[in-house]
Parts: sequence; structure tokens; C-alpha cells
Amino acid sequence: MKRVIAIAMQKGGVGKTTTAVNLAASLAATRRRVLLIDMDPQGNTTMGSGVDKSQLRRSSCEVLLGECQLADALVTIEHGAGFTLLPANQDLTAAEVRLLTLPIGRETKLRNALQPKRDDFDVILIDCPPALNMLTVNALVAADSVLIPMQCEYYALEGLSALLSTVEQIRDAANPRLSIEGVLRTMFDPRNNLANEVSAQLITHFGDKVFRTVIPRNIRLAEAPSFGRPALFHDKESRGALAYLALAGEMIRREEEGSGVAPSAAQVAEASHESGGDAAAEAPSASTDTGSHDTARFAGTTGNGAAGSAVSAEAAAGEAVAGEAVAASSHGEDLSR
Ligand code: ADP
Ligand code: MG
Repeated sequence: MKRVIAIAMQKGGVGKTTTAVNLAASLAATRRRVLLIDMDPQGNTTMGSGVDKSQLRRSSCEVLLGECQLADALVTIEHGAGFTLLPANQDLTAAEVRLLTLPIGRETKLRNALQPKRDDFDVILIDCPPALNMLTVNALVAADSVLIPMQCEYYALEGLSALLSTVEQIRDAANPRLSIEGVLRTMFDPRNNLANEVSAQLITHFGDKVFRTVIPRNIRLAEAPSFGRPALFHDKESRGALAYLALAGEMIRREEEGSGVAPSAAQVAEASHESGGDAAAEAPSASTDTGSHDTARFAGTTGNGAAGSAVSAEAAAGEAVAGEAVAASSHGEDLSR
């Protein structure tokens, strides 16, 4: 797995940062070398990784402006197998303003800065700010693919078309290889009918680009940042931690199956059309079975959903940590964990 993945959606509060931190920890747990880049002036990824954003000597601001080398701003995060962080704080807002005044090359600053270090990591995750601004554009130009977290609610699809059209523009202008890594359903509550309907719509639109793994609404994911840790090191058997382990496994498995190089949006639409637009019918995992309102299965609490993906995670990664995920996710129905 050698990829730069931007985690983007201009809507705030959809789970970008939670996904960035927990996916970084989960991929690191499968012994991949992970670089996590904070591209949001709010610095939530930085704080959530346990780094004090008010004490940074160098950060993504200086890196973007070419005032320091990437290597000089990196911080090692020690949780578990550990990962590397390029931290950020509010200085990044000033960097964005400075970038906007540049006559040329402002979209390629991050890509150029990453270049010397790309081969040092198996996967580079970029947490984007909640805006389609120059910081997000830099992330999309630097990336091979974009991972889109979506909360399955009424206005969810609105933000999506603006993001997809930005992705198309970036493909045309600067980064023709940019693909859709996948659409991730976050904060999912299977008892909510609307969530199930929006989820079904996503599958109709995106077919198998929708990750089978569903991230449930889970209190451990929400509280872990206040301890400066990924959920995996706050409560490793929590449903949230297990879901992100399963996501890491699904991504690795997809890559190994050769579908890692994602098709364009047009190809996705075509494929979905060819299969009668009913991607769910072909999917063996209960977590894509949105047609049925068997919501418990959807949540993975009975072992068919998240556990199904966790089994895939194990098969793909062959790691003890994913094995734990399988065991733990069949524990039962305690929604608070
Ligand atoms: P974004 O980066 O897109 O703005 P965040 O990841 O910061 O979104 O999530 C917004 C809020 O929702 C945060 O308080 C976070 O802790 C909480 N949150 C995110 N994902 C979950 C989840 N699966 N279950 C419960 N709370 C979540
Ligand atoms: Mg965020």
C-alpha cells in the first residue's frame, strides 16, 4: 500500500479528523509506516494525536510556505506501533492567505514538500479543513486518492457534488491520477430510518466505492481526543476502535485484490448502471445491505457487519490485531462501547 490519501469534505463535523487519527493508528497497527498530515488550522488532528498545538516550533504552515523542510517539522507519535505526524495550528490560516498572494505554484506546495519523503511511508493521510480552500486544494493536488467521510443525514449529498466537481477540476488542471478512495459512512445510527435511506442512496450513486465498513456513532471515538489518543489506545475493544481497524483491513484487502487503483467517477456510475444500480445485491457483507431494514445487522453488532469486515481485515493483514477485532466485535450489543 503506497498511497497519499486526502480525507476531505467541506462540511464540518462529518468525521474527517476522527477518521484521520483512527485510521492512521489502525494502519500503523498493521505495521504500515504511516504519515498523518494535519492541514486544518483547528489542529484537531494534532491534539487528538497527543501533541500540544500551542507548543509547535515548526508545523505544516512553515512546510507549506517553504520555510522549513518536511523532515524538520515531523513529530513521532508513540502510541502502539506509532506513526509520524506533521502537526498544525492556527498559523496555517496565515499560510493559506500567503499562498493566495502567490502568482504561480500555490496549489503544488504540499505535493512538492512531500516529494522527498514519499518513499519513507507506506501511506500518507491528509486531514483537510472543512472548506474547499487552498489548503484542501493543496491536499488534493498532493494526493493519489480522496477518502470522503459522510454522515448519512438529510443534507449529506449536497456537499458531495461540490466536492466531486472540485475533484474533477483538480484532475483536469493538476492531478489527472486523483481517484476516489471511497465514501465512508460515519457516525452511523442504524435505528435512524433516514440514515438507512441516505446510505442506500450513496450505494446507488457510488456502488462499490462505498466502503463496506460502517463507522458507528460511538462515545469512545468522541472522548478519545480529550486523552490525546486514538480510540485504539483508549478502549481497544470499543466498537469505534474496531470499526476503524476493520476499515484499515478493508482498504488493504481492496488494494490486494487489485481494486486499489480506483476508477473515475464516470466509470463508477457506468459500473453501477451495468449492475442494475443495485450494488448492494452483490455485496456479501451485511453492512451494505441497506435494502433490508434489519438495522442491527447493519451496525455490525451481531457479528455480520463490522465483524464481517474485521474478518476481511484479518485475511488481508494477517495481523494479530485484526484477529482481536474479530473476537471483540462479537461481544455483543453494548452500544456505549
Ligand atoms: P470533522 O473533522 O469532519 O470536522 P470530527 O472528526 O472532528 O469531524 O467529528 C466531529 C465531532 O463528532 C467530534 O466531536 C468527534 O469527536 C465526533 N465524532 C466523530 N465521529 C464520531 C463517531 N463515530 N461517534 C461519535 N462521535 C463522533
Ligand atoms: Mg476536522
